[in-house]
Amino acid sequence: MLSNSNSSPFGRLKEYYDHEELVCPECGFEDEEGAWDAEADGADIVYTHACPKCGAERRHRLELSDHETALKHARER
Ligand SMILES: [Zn+2]
Repeated sequence: MLSNSNSSPFGRLKEYYDHEELVCPECGFEDEEGAWDAEADGADIVYTHACPKCGAERRHRLELSDHETALKHARER
């Protein structure tokens, strides 16, 4: 069985956040070195990113039906 996290929906989602969603809506600062933090919260994945310039925190909650998948994904980052 092949396991390539970049080809999974979650890997693609994280990639999207890492590349497209790092411009702060508060101050417009682009955190080029930044990345979203993925954390398992129950059956959900919560992505958080704090702007290094103004400190504004953003979060995306990804609802998953499978708790195990959520935990696994959070550990894989
Ligand atoms: Zn900011």
